[in-house]
Amino acid sequence: MFGLKLDWSLEVPDRYFTLENYEGGTARWCPSCGDHSVLSAVQKICRDAQIPPEKIASISGIGCSSRFPHYMHAYGFHSLHGRALPVACGVKARRPDLHVWVATGDGDCCSIGAGHWVHAIRYNMDMTVMVFDNSIYGLTKAQTSPTSPVGLKTNTHPRGAWLPPINIIQSTLGLTNASFVARTVDWNPPHLYETLKAAYAHKGLSFVHILQRCPQYTSAVWQELQRNPDLILLMTHEKGIPVDAAVSRMYKNQLSHDPSNINEARELANPGERMAIGLFYRDPDAPRYDEFTAQGMDMSADKKLEAISKELDRFAV
Ligand code: SF4
Repeated sequence: MFGLKLDWSLEVPDRYFTLENYEGGTARWCPSCGDHSVLSAVQKICRDAQIPPEKIASISGIGCSSRFPHYMHAYGFHSLHGRALPVACGVKARRPDLHVWVATGDGDCCSIGAGHWVHAIRYNMDMTVMVFDNSIYGLTKAQTSPTSPVGLKTNTHPRGAWLPPINIIQSTLGLTNASFVARTVDWNPPHLYETLKAAYAHKGLSFVHILQRCPQYTSAVWQELQRNPDLILLMTHEKGIPVDAAVSRMYKNQLSHDPSNINEARELANPGERMAIGLFYRDPDAPRYDEFTAQGMDMSADKKLEAISKELDRFAV
């Protein structure tokens, strides 16, 4: 009748996940802390991608942002200071089926964890690394961090920090085998969401530098950028971070940057008049160490024993 055909073959998923399925404990960050926005974006991405919570691992080091795993309903590991990345690499090596989200801060990643930062970028294991940059050690109540701007008054430099800060993007782009390097800001939820979504979709280590508000200790650090969007340079490109009309309207300074162009990416990472946000660089073909460590993971117990015996036999007299 009326040519209407009902499709009874539509598959009803066994499980449908709502945002609540990804919510862990109540977040205890300060009100208006930018960490809340990042948590919310990650939970939305997990919901939109319908990732079963038992297929997610949230790994962190130490710092305010490193409380992240407590607020995700998923596997979590709140590790030691600076050790988020080696723990995440270990998890990915043994459980390649898990989607790994790493939460680390500017102090955690770029100071005590700097050695791990270098090698995790080189290993390029499939995970999303979020560096929450509030330019201060917030959890321990305001010490100078590697990204504190010159002149910032802190407990360790009451007259003002005096070393130039590390340029996180420039440093990462200088590391061997970087495969996805982006920057976003916590106060622009659509751009934050799209950046983290693209990072999640990338096969390899996606490194996302997030300018994060800390109203408690460094409210002035990113304030000018929030008040005056003309100080931001929005990178756009068909291979870059998707930009919707509202985001495009907000930032009048835009540049079409092809993220396969590493030289231009390095130039854009230089501190200039404007802070570039978007995707600096992407190499989908960079070798991934998790592809190597996953080899043999699907072997049966008998096959594993056989392989071990064969190896031991090489040393038998
Ligand atoms: Fe957030 Fe700063 Fe408070 Fe830490 S101290 S929770 S970074 S606002």
